Amino acid sequence: MGVGAGIAGADGGVGEGDGTGVDVGAGVTSGMGAEVGEGEAAGVGVIGGAELSLHPAASAARKTRQTSSFLAITRSAYGYHRQMALRLDRYPGVTYDAVPPEFTDLEELRLLRKWEAAIGYRIFAAMRWGQIGDGHITARDPILTDHFWVLGYGIRFGDATIDNLTLVGPEGQGVAGPLENGVNFAAYHIHWPILNARPDLASAAHTHTPYGTSWSANVAPFQAISQESCAFVFDQSLYNGENLEVDDVAGGEAIAQAMGNSRVCILRNHGLLTGGRSPGEAVGWFVAAERVAEVHVKAPDAKPISEEAAKEVEASLFSMDNGWRMFQWLARDLVPDPSVVLG
Ligand SMILES: [Zn+2]
Repeated sequence: MGVGAGIAGADGGVGEGDGTGVDVGAGVTSGMGAEVGEGEAAGVGVIGGAELSLHPAASAARKTRQTSSFLAITRSAYGYHRQMALRLDRYPGVTYDAVPPEFTDLEELRLLRKWEAAIGYRIFAAMRWGQIGDGHITARDPILTDHFWVLGYGIRFGDATIDNLTLVGPEGQGVAGPLENGVNFAAYHIHWPILNARPDLASAAHTHTPYGTSWSANVAPFQAISQESCAFVFDQSLYNGENLEVDDVAGGEAIAQAMGNSRVCILRNHGLLTGGRSPGEAVGWFVAAERVAEVHVKAPDAKPISEEAAKEVEASLFSMDNGWRMFQWLARDLVPDPSVVLG
Protein backbone atom coordinates (compact mmCIF):
# COMPACT_ATOMS: atom_id res chain seq x y z
CA MET A 1 0.00 0.00 0.00
CA GLY A 2 1.10 3.51 -0.55
CA VAL A 3 0.67 6.51 1.63
CA GLY A 4 -2.10 5.87 4.06
CA ALA A 5 -1.18 2.27 4.72
CA GLY A 6 -2.00 0.90 8.08
CA ILE A 7 -5.66 1.77 8.13
CA ALA A 8 -7.64 -0.53 10.33
CA GLY A 9 -11.28 -1.29 9.79
CA ALA A 10 -13.92 -2.10 12.32
CA ASP A 11 -12.89 -5.70 12.16
CA GLY A 12 -9.65 -4.90 13.87
CA GLY A 13 -6.10 -4.55 12.77
CA VAL A 14 -3.53 -2.11 13.92
CA GLY A 15 -2.38 1.08 12.30
CA GLU A 16 1.28 1.66 11.75
CA GLY A 17 1.83 3.88 14.73
CA ASP A 18 5.39 4.45 15.72
CA GLY A 19 4.72 2.73 19.00
CA THR A 20 6.79 5.21 20.90
CA GLY A 21 4.55 4.96 23.84
CA VAL A 22 5.85 5.18 27.27
CA ASP A 23 3.99 3.50 30.06
CA VAL A 24 1.54 5.33 32.25
CA GLY A 25 3.38 7.75 34.35
CA ALA A 26 6.37 7.51 32.09
CA GLY A 27 6.55 11.22 32.11
CA VAL A 28 7.44 11.02 35.74
CA THR A 29 10.92 9.71 35.68
CA SER A 30 13.26 12.65 35.63
CA GLY A 31 11.65 15.58 37.30
CA MET A 32 13.62 17.69 39.68
CA GLY A 33 10.84 18.69 42.02
CA ALA A 34 8.62 21.68 42.31
CA GLU A 35 9.66 25.11 43.40
CA VAL A 36 6.34 26.43 44.58
CA GLY A 37 3.91 25.61 47.29
CA GLU A 38 6.17 24.86 50.23
CA GLY A 39 4.31 25.47 53.42
CA GLU A 40 0.91 25.95 51.79
CA ALA A 41 -1.98 24.05 53.28
CA ALA A 42 -3.17 21.42 50.86
CA GLY A 43 -6.83 21.26 50.03
CA VAL A 44 -8.39 17.82 50.14
CA GLY A 45 -11.50 16.56 48.44
CA VAL A 46 -13.11 13.33 49.57
CA ILE A 47 -15.82 11.77 47.49
CA GLY A 48 -16.73 8.14 47.18
CA GLY A 49 -13.99 7.01 49.53
CA ALA A 50 -11.15 8.32 47.38
CA GLU A 51 -9.12 11.03 49.01
CA LEU A 52 -7.77 13.50 46.52
CA SER A 53 -5.18 15.91 47.70
CA LEU A 54 -5.02 19.24 45.98
CA HIS A 55 -1.35 19.92 45.81
CA PRO A 56 -0.22 23.12 47.50
CA ALA A 57 1.16 24.29 44.19
CA ALA A 58 -2.39 24.88 43.01
CA SER A 59 -3.22 27.31 45.74
CA ALA A 60 0.17 28.93 45.46
CA ALA A 61 -0.31 29.38 41.77
CA ARG A 62 -3.67 30.98 42.37
CA LYS A 63 -2.18 33.56 44.66
CA THR A 64 1.09 34.46 43.09
CA ARG A 65 2.63 35.27 39.80
CA GLN A 66 6.19 34.17 39.79
CA THR A 67 8.81 35.08 37.32
CA SER A 68 11.05 32.05 37.14
CA SER A 69 10.88 29.91 34.06
CA PHE A 70 8.68 26.86 33.77
CA LEU A 71 11.45 24.80 32.35
CA ALA A 72 15.05 25.77 32.60
CA ILE A 73 18.36 24.10 31.97
CA THR A 74 20.50 24.23 35.05
CA ARG A 75 23.95 22.95 35.82
CA SER A 76 24.76 20.98 38.92
CA ALA A 77 27.73 18.96 40.08
CA TYR A 78 26.31 16.13 38.02
CA GLY A 79 26.06 18.06 34.77
CA TYR A 80 23.10 19.62 33.01
CA HIS A 81 19.58 18.75 34.06
CA ARG A 82 16.14 19.87 33.17
CA GLN A 83 14.97 21.81 36.17
CA MET A 84 11.25 21.24 36.47
CA ALA A 85 8.92 23.53 38.27
CA LEU A 86 5.21 23.02 38.19
CA ARG A 87 3.83 26.31 36.99
CA LEU A 88 0.12 26.67 36.39
CA ASP A 89 -0.09 30.43 36.02
CA ARG A 90 2.02 30.84 32.90
CA TYR A 91 3.09 28.93 29.82
CA PRO A 92 6.56 27.64 29.18
CA GLY A 93 8.52 29.19 26.35
CA VAL A 94 8.25 27.46 22.99
CA THR A 95 11.45 26.62 21.22
CA TYR A 96 12.22 24.18 18.44
CA ASP A 97 13.49 21.66 20.94
CA ALA A 98 11.06 22.35 23.80
CA VAL A 99 9.97 19.14 25.43
CA PRO A 100 7.00 18.32 27.64
CA PRO A 101 7.66 18.69 31.36
CA GLU A 102 8.24 15.60 33.45
CA PHE A 103 7.49 15.13 37.12
CA THR A 104 8.30 12.56 39.76
CA ASP A 105 5.54 13.80 42.04
CA LEU A 106 2.33 12.09 40.96
CA GLU A 107 0.14 14.75 42.55
CA GLU A 108 1.95 17.37 40.50
CA LEU A 109 1.46 15.26 37.41
CA ARG A 110 -2.23 14.95 38.26
CA LEU A 111 -2.52 18.73 38.50
CA LEU A 112 -0.62 19.23 35.27
CA ARG A 113 -2.87 16.82 33.39
CA LYS A 114 -6.02 18.47 34.77
CA TRP A 115 -4.63 21.89 33.90
CA GLU A 116 -3.87 20.84 30.33
CA ALA A 117 -7.29 19.21 29.96
CA ALA A 118 -9.07 22.35 31.22
CA ILE A 119 -7.04 24.55 28.87
CA GLY A 120 -7.73 22.07 26.08
CA TYR A 121 -11.47 22.45 26.63
CA ARG A 122 -11.09 26.23 26.45
CA ILE A 123 -9.13 25.89 23.22
CA PHE A 124 -12.00 23.82 21.82
CA ALA A 125 -14.46 26.48 23.00
CA ALA A 126 -12.41 29.19 21.30
CA MET A 127 -12.62 27.14 18.12
CA ARG A 128 -16.42 27.12 18.66
CA TRP A 129 -16.41 23.38 19.14
CA GLY A 130 -18.57 21.47 21.61
CA GLN A 131 -21.36 24.04 21.53
CA ILE A 132 -24.05 21.36 21.47
CA GLY A 133 -22.42 19.33 24.19
CA ASP A 134 -20.51 17.11 21.80
CA GLY A 135 -17.07 15.83 22.60
CA HIS A 136 -14.67 15.31 25.44
CA ILE A 137 -11.06 15.60 26.48
CA THR A 138 -9.93 13.08 29.06
CA ALA A 139 -6.91 12.90 31.34
CA ARG A 140 -5.82 9.62 32.90
CA ASP A 141 -5.27 9.99 36.61
CA PRO A 142 -1.59 9.21 37.28
CA ILE A 143 -2.32 7.75 40.73
CA LEU A 144 -5.60 5.93 40.11
CA THR A 145 -4.43 4.88 36.68
CA ASP A 146 -7.69 3.18 35.68
CA HIS A 147 -9.59 6.41 36.38
CA PHE A 148 -9.80 9.48 34.18
CA TRP A 149 -10.82 13.13 34.49
CA VAL A 150 -13.37 14.72 32.17
CA LEU A 151 -15.30 17.98 32.25
CA GLY A 152 -18.34 17.67 34.50
CA TYR A 153 -21.47 16.92 32.54
CA GLY A 154 -23.45 20.01 31.56
CA ILE A 155 -20.55 22.44 31.97
CA ARG A 156 -19.64 24.67 29.02
CA PHE A 157 -16.25 23.95 27.49
CA GLY A 158 -15.39 27.62 27.97
CA ASP A 159 -15.97 27.33 31.72
CA ALA A 160 -13.55 24.43 32.23
CA THR A 161 -11.30 24.64 35.28
CA ILE A 162 -9.21 22.13 37.16
CA ASP A 163 -11.96 22.08 39.82
CA ASN A 164 -14.90 21.21 37.60
CA LEU A 165 -13.45 18.07 36.10
CA THR A 166 -15.08 14.84 37.22
CA LEU A 167 -13.03 11.79 38.14
CA VAL A 168 -14.57 8.66 36.61
CA GLY A 169 -13.71 5.14 37.68
CA PRO A 170 -13.42 1.91 35.68
CA GLU A 171 -17.08 1.01 36.17
CA GLY A 172 -18.21 4.43 35.00
CA GLN A 173 -18.77 5.60 38.53
CA GLY A 174 -18.28 9.22 39.48
CA VAL A 175 -15.59 9.47 42.15
CA ALA A 176 -14.84 13.16 42.56
CA GLY A 177 -15.63 16.54 41.13
CA PRO A 178 -19.02 17.83 40.01
CA LEU A 179 -21.53 15.00 39.84
CA GLU A 180 -24.86 16.73 40.22
CA ASN A 181 -25.65 16.06 36.56
CA GLY A 182 -24.17 12.57 36.59
CA VAL A 183 -21.19 11.19 34.72
CA ASN A 184 -20.59 11.94 31.05
CA PHE A 185 -21.37 8.43 29.86
CA ALA A 186 -20.44 9.04 26.24
CA ALA A 187 -16.98 10.02 27.44
CA TYR A 188 -16.80 6.88 29.57
CA HIS A 189 -17.96 4.59 26.78
CA ILE A 190 -15.45 5.96 24.26
CA HIS A 191 -12.46 7.05 26.31
CA TRP A 192 -12.17 4.45 29.06
CA PRO A 193 -11.70 1.49 26.65
CA ILE A 194 -9.12 3.48 24.69
CA LEU A 195 -7.14 4.46 27.78
CA ASN A 196 -7.46 0.88 29.03
CA ALA A 197 -6.12 -0.53 25.76
CA ARG A 198 -3.39 2.09 25.38
CA PRO A 199 -1.23 2.36 28.51
CA ASP A 200 1.04 4.68 26.54
CA LEU A 201 -1.74 7.29 26.40
CA ALA A 202 -2.66 9.70 29.15
CA SER A 203 -5.39 11.40 27.16
CA ALA A 204 -7.83 11.21 24.30
CA ALA A 205 -9.66 14.06 22.59
CA HIS A 206 -12.78 13.96 20.46
CA THR A 207 -15.46 16.35 19.30
CA HIS A 208 -17.59 16.87 16.22
CA THR A 209 -15.79 19.45 14.12
CA PRO A 210 -16.87 21.07 10.87
CA TYR A 211 -14.24 19.41 8.74
CA GLY A 212 -13.34 16.31 10.73
CA THR A 213 -16.93 15.14 10.74
CA SER A 214 -17.38 16.11 7.10
CA TRP A 215 -14.29 14.19 6.01
CA SER A 216 -15.22 11.19 8.14
CA ALA A 217 -18.39 10.82 6.08
CA ASN A 218 -16.17 9.85 3.14
CA VAL A 219 -14.97 6.86 5.19
CA ALA A 220 -11.47 7.36 3.86
CA PRO A 221 -8.02 7.95 5.36
CA PHE A 222 -6.00 11.13 5.08
CA GLN A 223 -3.55 11.52 2.21
CA ALA A 224 -0.32 13.51 2.10
CA ILE A 225 -1.82 16.63 0.57
CA SER A 226 -0.55 19.25 3.03
CA GLN A 227 2.30 19.68 5.47
CA GLU A 228 0.23 18.72 8.53
CA SER A 229 -1.19 15.74 6.69
CA CYS A 230 2.24 14.14 6.84
CA ALA A 231 1.87 13.89 10.63
CA PHE A 232 -0.93 11.39 10.17
CA VAL A 233 -0.65 9.49 6.89
CA PHE A 234 1.66 6.90 8.44
CA ASP A 235 0.00 6.99 11.82
CA GLN A 236 -3.77 6.93 11.36
CA SER A 237 -6.69 4.55 11.59
CA LEU A 238 -10.27 4.39 10.43
CA TYR A 239 -13.14 3.06 12.52
CA ASN A 240 -15.80 1.65 10.26
CA GLY A 241 -18.54 1.00 12.81
CA GLU A 242 -21.99 2.49 12.31
CA ASN A 243 -22.69 2.96 16.01
CA LEU A 244 -22.56 6.74 15.81
CA GLU A 245 -23.85 6.88 19.35
CA VAL A 246 -21.34 4.91 21.38
CA ASP A 247 -23.68 3.78 24.12
CA ASP A 248 -21.70 1.04 25.76
CA VAL A 249 -18.13 0.06 26.58
CA ALA A 250 -18.17 -2.55 23.82
CA GLY A 251 -18.52 0.28 21.31
CA GLY A 252 -15.47 2.00 22.73
CA GLU A 253 -13.56 -1.27 22.72
CA ALA A 254 -14.26 -1.63 19.01
CA ILE A 255 -12.93 1.89 18.42
CA ALA A 256 -9.85 1.10 20.51
CA GLN A 257 -9.23 -2.03 18.45
CA ALA A 258 -9.52 -0.10 15.21
CA MET A 259 -7.31 2.69 16.56
CA GLY A 260 -4.46 0.33 17.36
CA ASN A 261 -1.32 2.33 18.08
CA SER A 262 -2.22 5.26 15.86
CA ARG A 263 -2.35 8.89 16.98
CA VAL A 264 -5.60 9.70 15.15
CA CYS A 265 -8.67 7.63 14.43
CA ILE A 266 -11.22 8.76 11.87
CA LEU A 267 -14.61 7.60 13.17
CA ARG A 268 -16.76 7.12 10.10
CA ASN A 269 -19.70 9.52 9.81
CA HIS A 270 -18.81 10.83 13.25
CA GLY A 271 -15.55 12.74 13.52
CA LEU A 272 -11.96 12.65 14.70
CA LEU A 273 -10.39 11.17 17.80
CA THR A 274 -6.78 11.62 18.88
CA GLY A 275 -4.63 10.20 21.63
CA GLY A 276 -1.69 11.73 23.43
CA ARG A 277 0.82 11.04 26.18
CA SER A 278 -0.66 14.13 27.81
CA PRO A 279 -3.89 16.08 27.36
CA GLY A 280 -1.88 18.82 25.68
CA GLU A 281 -0.48 16.39 23.16
CA ALA A 282 -3.92 14.92 22.39
CA VAL A 283 -5.37 18.41 21.89
CA GLY A 284 -2.45 19.54 19.73
CA TRP A 285 -2.84 16.55 17.45
CA PHE A 286 -6.61 17.01 17.39
CA VAL A 287 -6.46 20.59 16.15
CA ALA A 288 -3.82 19.60 13.59
CA ALA A 289 -6.02 16.72 12.40
CA GLU A 290 -8.94 19.11 11.98
CA ARG A 291 -6.73 21.34 9.83
CA VAL A 292 -5.84 18.32 7.75
CA ALA A 293 -9.50 17.39 7.36
CA GLU A 294 -10.25 20.95 6.24
CA VAL A 295 -7.74 20.67 3.41
CA HIS A 296 -9.19 17.31 2.41
CA VAL A 297 -12.72 18.72 2.28
CA LYS A 298 -11.79 21.95 0.51
CA ALA A 299 -9.47 20.34 -2.03
CA PRO A 300 -11.32 17.22 -3.17
CA ASP A 301 -9.11 16.87 -6.23
CA ALA A 302 -5.85 17.33 -4.33
CA LYS A 303 -2.83 15.36 -5.49
CA PRO A 304 -0.75 13.84 -2.71
CA ILE A 305 3.01 14.10 -2.61
CA SER A 306 5.02 10.92 -2.83
CA GLU A 307 5.30 8.54 0.08
CA GLU A 308 9.04 9.19 0.25
CA ALA A 309 8.56 12.95 0.44
CA ALA A 310 5.80 12.59 3.01
CA LYS A 311 8.05 10.49 5.21
CA GLU A 312 10.72 13.18 5.09
CA VAL A 313 8.22 15.82 6.20
CA GLU A 314 6.91 13.60 8.97
CA ALA A 315 10.41 12.87 10.27
CA SER A 316 11.43 16.51 10.14
CA LEU A 317 8.36 18.21 11.58
CA PHE A 318 6.16 15.78 13.42
CA SER A 319 7.90 14.01 16.23
CA MET A 320 5.53 13.03 19.03
CA ASP A 321 6.63 16.03 21.08
CA ASN A 322 5.30 18.31 18.38
CA GLY A 323 1.75 17.56 19.48
CA TRP A 324 2.55 19.15 22.82
CA ARG A 325 4.32 22.08 21.14
CA MET A 326 1.28 22.77 18.96
CA PHE A 327 -0.81 22.76 22.14
CA GLN A 328 1.46 25.44 23.59
CA TRP A 329 1.04 27.58 20.49
CA LEU A 330 -2.73 27.18 20.59
CA ALA A 331 -2.97 27.82 24.32
CA ARG A 332 -0.97 31.05 24.26
CA ASP A 333 -3.14 32.37 21.44
CA LEU A 334 -6.57 31.17 22.54
CA VAL A 335 -6.26 31.03 26.35
CA PRO A 336 -3.73 33.81 27.00
CA ASP A 337 -4.04 33.67 30.79
CA PRO A 338 -3.82 30.05 32.01
CA SER A 339 -4.72 31.08 35.54
CA VAL A 340 -8.37 31.24 34.40
CA VAL A 341 -8.53 27.45 34.71
CA LEU A 342 -7.34 27.56 38.32
CA GLY A 343 -10.86 28.39 39.48
ZN1 LIG B 1 -18.77 11.93 19.23
